[in-house]
Order: sequence, then C-alpha cells, then structure tokens
Amino acid sequence: MIDHRLSEEYQDLRKTVEEFARERVAPVIGGFYEREEFPYELVAQMGRMGLFGLPFDEEYGGMGGDYFALCLALEELARVDSSVAITLEAGVSLGAMPVYRFGTPEQKREWLPALCAGEKLAAFGLTEPGGGSDAGATRTTAVLSDDGSEWVINGSKAFITNSGTDITSMVTVTAVTGVSGARKEISAIIVPSGTPGFTVAPKYSKVGWNASDTHELSFDDCRVPAANLLGERGAGYAQFLRILDEGRIAIAALSVGLAQGCVDECLRYIREREAFGRAIGSYQSIQFKLADMEARAHTARLAYYHAASRLLRGEPFKKDAAIAKLVASNAAMDNARDATQIFGGYGFMNEFPVGRFYRDAKILEIGEGTSEVQRMLIAREIGATA
Ligand SMILES: Cc1cc2nc3c(=O)[nH]c(=O)nc-3n(C[C@H](O)[C@H](O)[C@H](O)COP(=O)(O)OP(=O)(O)OC[C@H]3O[C@@H](n4cnc5c(N)ncnc54)[C@H](O)[C@@H]3O)c2cc1C
Repeated sequence: MIDHRLSEEYQDLRKTVEEFARERVAPVIGGFYEREEFPYELVAQMGRMGLFGLPFDEEYGGMGGDYFALCLALEELARVDSSVAITLEAGVSLGAMPVYRFGTPEQKREWLPALCAGEKLAAFGLTEPGGGSDAGATRTTAVLSDDGSEWVINGSKAFITNSGTDITSMVTVTAVTGVSGARKEISAIIVPSGTPGFTVAPKYSKVGWNASDTHELSFDDCRVPAANLLGERGAGYAQFLRILDEGRIAIAALSVGLAQGCVDECLRYIREREAFGRAIGSYQSIQFKLADMEARAHTARLAYYHAASRLLRGEPFKKDAAIAKLVASNAAMDNARDATQIFGGYGFMNEFPVGRFYRDAKILEIGEGTSEVQRMLIAREIGATA
C-alpha cells in the first residue's frame, strides 16, 4: 500500500509549526543571524510548543510522537530559517536521542525532562579536529580511574552544535576506552557542562547557520562518574552509527525545508520584480527554473518520507536515509543557487532570506556525513563495493 497522505495529527503539527515560523521566526531571525546571536527566546517558545519532546515518551516529558513528526517540524522551520531548525535537530536527534535510545532509566530520568521541555540543550561530540568522516579514527580517550569510579577523559572535539549555550546541560562524547584485538573499543560517555577539565572554546565564525551555536571542545583530565557511560562499554561506535542514520533523515527534512523556502520566496518575487517592462515571472526561463526547483523539493520530500516510513515500521533504512540526505542536500544547494540568481543583486543582500538560504545550504552537503560518505554508504548497501 503506497500512501503519503498525512494524518490529521501530522497536518495539525505542520500547520502549527508553519505559523510559528512565519509569525515568530521570520520577522526577527535576520537580526539574530547578522549579530551571530543565539535566539534564546525563540528556542524557549519552541520548547513550550513541545517541539524538543516530539519523538519522546510522555514518561520523560515528551510528546509521545515519532521521528517523522520531528522531521515535519524541521521542514517547516527550515522553510523560514535553518539556524533554528538545526538547533532543534541537533538538540533532539543528536543531544537527547542517544540518552533516550541507550541510557539507563536513571540517566533518562536525570536528563530527558529538561531536554524535552527545551529548557536545556544537549550536544553530541563525535567529530574531532583531525577528522569526522572516519569516525572510527577517534583519538579522544577515556580511562577508568584506579578505583573504577571515574572516567578520565582527554582529547578534543570539533564543530559541536549546541555545545556552548547558556542552557547546554551536557555533551555525549565518543572516546576510545580500550583496544580489543586490532580494533579500538569506542564508548559514549556523558560529560555534564561545567565539569572541571571540560573547556568550551569561543564560538566559531561560520559561513552560515549564524544564529546557531557551534564550538570546539577540549577535555584535559576531565573526570566524570563511571555511571556516565552510555549503554555498554565498547558500544559507542554502533550507537553513533544508529544516531547518524536517523539524523540523516532529519537533515534531509531540513534540506527539503530550505529547498521549499527558496521556491516560496521566488514565487513572491517574480510577480513583483520587473525587467524590460514585464514581471520577470513572465519569462519562461524563470518559470522553468522554478519548475525545476519545485521538482527537486518534491522528489527530495518523497525520499525522506520513504526513509522515515521505513524507520517507523522498524525496517532497515540505512540506504534510504543516505539517499534522502544526498538528494535533499543537493536539492537545497541547487535551489539556493537558483533562488539567488532569480533575485539578482538583491539575492546577494542580507535583507532578503535567499542570501541566508544560500549561505546555509552548503553545510547540508557536509554535516552528519558528507555527500561522499552518503555515496559510500549507498554503494556498500547495494553491493557495489564487492
Ligand atoms: C556547522 C557545523 C556543525 C556540526 N555539528 C556537529 C555536531 O554537533 N557533532 C559532531 O560530531 N559533528 C558536527 N559537525 C561535523 C561534521 O559532521 C563534519 O564536518 C563532517 O562529518 C565531515 O567531517 P570533516 O569536516 O572532518 O571532513 P573530513 O572527514 O576531513 O573530509 C574532508 C573531505 O574528504 C572527503 N572524504 C573523506 N573520506 C573520503 C573517502 N573515503 N572517499 C572520498 N571522499 C572522502 C569528505 O567527503 C570531505 O569532502 C558539524 C560541522 C559543522 C560545519
């Protein structure tokens, strides 16, 4: 049975987030972006709307929804702005989800309620200054203290989203905790904000996502309780692969939002802007550009709907998530380039959102696995690497 119609609940959620993005985010986000300022009040409003708790059980303060609901919210936010969308995506799918999926009941009770309410944010520290694509090459180490009561962490992490806000409560880091045979044993460990030896560097100066929070982190004999291990020792590699597989569907949804936002902006502009005595929308080359943009957003949306439906049904979805992320991030990049072209000189001005879309699109082909990594995954899944 093939059916991509949204249930009433999903439609209501989509409408609520669409209104929030249009009425609350759109009027103010350009200023935050220009000032490179984190929009705390918008994040608090998103928290009160329940967006940070969407896919989590009510037992932990969540909304009892599912991962697809999160994706719909991300798409609607990113139609207007990607900084707030990535703050939600990283907060939920990289920050809270590892605890939800792999944490002990105590860890869930300790961390999830405030994360679901959006009162606190958590981060996921996988990438290191020496490399992100080859996640198995992690150099950060965690050694158990002699009495076995604490992990002593040393190393650094690069480009970590939501890691340095005033409301960041913790970061889950991957670290080498031993060697088994020729393989590194990688584990995931929760490091609360403010732990001595855990330093958050000043925020990066970024090309895009300028109202989101990104820092390098360093750990210098940083000690946390042994009980902060997430799940089993040595399970960290498998855990983050699962988190990234899911996260790719979320980034695909965010990419579709940006691609659709480009169409939205252009549809308005081509009716108003005149050249050679006619609205530019009367030229077929402009119409064709928009037709291509709409087709890219539409096909990328189908790709992430498909991947999400497999995830929700408990079916294998690795290949589908990689395809969705690959085509959706391409769509976002292509649409942002075309939208900027349609806006002409104004496309290069910060007063119009398309300039922001252009700057925000590129990272979608890099974060949570580059396009090359997606192709590696797809090739492996279809047996092309034999
Ligand atoms: C704004 C921002 C936010 C981020 N947030 C987070 C976060 O919250 N948590 C986190 O852990 N990480 C985060 N990242 C890191 C991001 O996931 C990595 O940048 C990404 O995975 C790529 O890793 P890298 O930058 O080390 O590139 P590299 O791994 O050094 O790759 C460099 C280039 O080589 C290519 N390449 C690598 N290996 C191969 C191969 N085998 N074959 C062909 N080509 C290859 C890559 O595709 C890329 O083009 C963030 C990054 C940014 C910019």
